[in-house]
Amino acid sequence: MSTLADLTGFRFYDFFQQICAIPRESGNEKGISDYLVRFAAERGLVCRQDKALNIVIKKNASPGYAGEPPLILQAHMDMVCEKTADCKHDFLHDPISPREEDGYITADRTTLGADNAVGMSYILAILDDAKIPHPPIEAVITTNEEVGMKGMSALDASDLEGTRMINLDADEEGKLFTSCAGGTRIFVELPVTYVPASADRSPYTLRIQGLAGGHSGIDINRNRANAIVLLARAIDLLGKKTELPVGDLFCGGKMNVIPHDASALLWLKEADAEKMILETARINEIFSAEYRMSEPGLSLTLQKSSPGGGQVLSIQTLRHLLAAIFLLPNGVLGFSQYMKDVLDVSCNLGALEMKGERAVLSLFLRSNTNSKMDDILSRIQYFGETLGAAINVPSSYPAWEFRKDSALRELCTKAYLKLTGKAPEAASIHGGLECALMTLKKPDLDMVSFGPTILEAHTSNERVEIASFINTWNLLVTTLENKEK
Ligand SMILES: [Zn+2]
Repeated sequence: MSTLADLTGFRFYDFFQQICAIPRESGNEKGISDYLVRFAAERGLVCRQDKALNIVIKKNASPGYAGEPPLILQAHMDMVCEKTADCKHDFLHDPISPREEDGYITADRTTLGADNAVGMSYILAILDDAKIPHPPIEAVITTNEEVGMKGMSALDASDLEGTRMINLDADEEGKLFTSCAGGTRIFVELPVTYVPASADRSPYTLRIQGLAGGHSGIDINRNRANAIVLLARAIDLLGKKTELPVGDLFCGGKMNVIPHDASALLWLKEADAEKMILETARINEIFSAEYRMSEPGLSLTLQKSSPGGGQVLSIQTLRHLLAAIFLLPNGVLGFSQYMKDVLDVSCNLGALEMKGERAVLSLFLRSNTNSKMDDILSRIQYFGETLGAAINVPSSYPAWEFRKDSALRELCTKAYLKLTGKAPEAASIHGGLECALMTLKKPDLDMVSFGPTILEAHTSNERVEIASFINTWNLLVTTLENKEK
């Protein structure tokens, strides 16, 4: 097992420690950005800091490498700041002190920020070193990656000469990332009409909860139940037993999270209530059986709600709303043609809110193939039209698509082979990387992404494996040494 002592003599670890000492939550990057400006000035390197505080530093090729195509090295400077409930750490002022634990570097009850201090520390070590052979380097270190890649969005890439780019923001050693998903946020807005609830009925809350939820890209293929879909199914099944006026449905989730909790107001005759509660328990059994392995906490209940007059959805509204929930694309929609069992297209129905005269369904569509994303969006538009719904697309970013031919991928593969004796696994991410936004600025850029093994990023348990931290450095150095020409 590797220890911190194994990092002695590696310049990248000195820089990692310096970076950890500077508070750098997304949106609070002035300190770290200015540190990078000073770093470049002290070494006489050309440096540009833009309005978004992104940094571009250029370094000439080492002797004998001037004929190589320029290479962009890319990382982000901001970090996610999470801590345990008992932790007093102040992310605006306190430094993070890395410490060793079972072969990993971790922090004391906070995120470590290895995502992406690791990438930055490698880049600084390359820029600092006089001996490592490398092609012309353009270091691009961005801000606000963790909150919608805002820094990269704002970056002007017109002065970048690089024809290839290594992104150092991946988190699994042994994998060479070659593609990431694009994303499209979609609102399906369905017109809603209400009628008064009849006086002989009272409200009951139907609620599905206890589901696992998860990341709408990474966890979408784990057979997790969608709370909105199960809620709609329960309403459909209960409606087969009795006339069932339904008030508002609600799921206040986020479009990029699989919804784990949803509820609806049902208006029942008192004489019917007992029967419907029993029926709900029976449906709970059915759902629990379907998701025995992936959703052990699943719970569907029907309980009396506070009394009061109210409105229920018109029959046509309810039918349209259920149709939308059942038939809008949701879950896994396709796999990669290049990589076995790797996701290519998915859609997550993440939230449902009643907003006056509209029911708003929020979807997050992802694909590693742009044309497939366009296809699904178009189908949603056709379907929305038949229901009289408006389809709004507030934002969208493209996929970084797999390239059949990539000289840079071959260079990295060769380096990995030399170091380990085996080929790295070509992988793709069904989430977003800044490479996706780079494709808008430089469509022909040849890119790969790799990084050391980081566990539980974005949590107070975040840690980076020490051995992997060293191995990945060696991979980067060996890749730079290899000539493309
Ligand atoms: Zn990151």
